[in-house]
Amino acid sequence: MKQLKERIMHDGRCFEGGILKVDSFINHQMDPRLMMAMAEELVRRFSGSGINKILTIEASGIAPAIMAGYLLEVPVVFVKKKVPSTMENMLTTEVYSFTKNRSYTVCVSGDYLHRGDKVLFIDDFLANGNAAKGIIDLVQQAGAELSGMGFLIEKGFQQGGDLLRGEGIHVESLAIIESLDNCQIKLKE
Ligand code: 5GP
Repeated sequence: MKQLKERIMHDGRCFEGGILKVDSFINHQMDPRLMMAMAEELVRRFSGSGINKILTIEASGIAPAIMAGYLLEVPVVFVKKKVPSTMENMLTTEVYSFTKNRSYTVCVSGDYLHRGDKVLFIDDFLANGNAAKGIIDLVQQAGAELSGMGFLIEKGFQQGGDLLRGEGIHVESLAIIESLDNCQIKLKE
């Protein structure tokens, strides 16, 4: 997506260890116009998939997910990174965090994710696919169907994209980073 790619090149910052910071328009300060444009593009790419629910994971997936949910007129459920004591019918899984370098338990209520749901998962980044693997597990536990996974930014030099596409999952990423070597952002054309 041209608009996102231009913004990454203009405002993205590269950090040691292959981390791309997009805090000025996605991860901290958010640009609602760009966010809506990205949601529109994701909705376009998954049109005809019969999606009746959008799933995301807190925190940074929520903004694009809620906008896509608004456009599709379907509910948006976010997987929680802290397990609340009051959640009913809880489904849990373990996710390894690339940026925090540790595993943690995430959860969602089976009241909001269940058999019959055709789910589109939306998140900010796809790196090694650890969050995505956890989501697949939750969707399976719920007996729901995964229609696709949409990401704003995919780090093409990490394994997540190959892993998910290799499993036959419909994956769409609006910008693919080819390399962050020498702290230089290189995008896939
Ligand atoms: P994965 O689970 O695919 O290994 O990593 C995806 C998650 O890690 C995303 O939800 C995102 O929060 C975080 N992440 C991975 N790489 C980056 C990065 O380069 N920049 C930022 N801002 N987040 C990242």
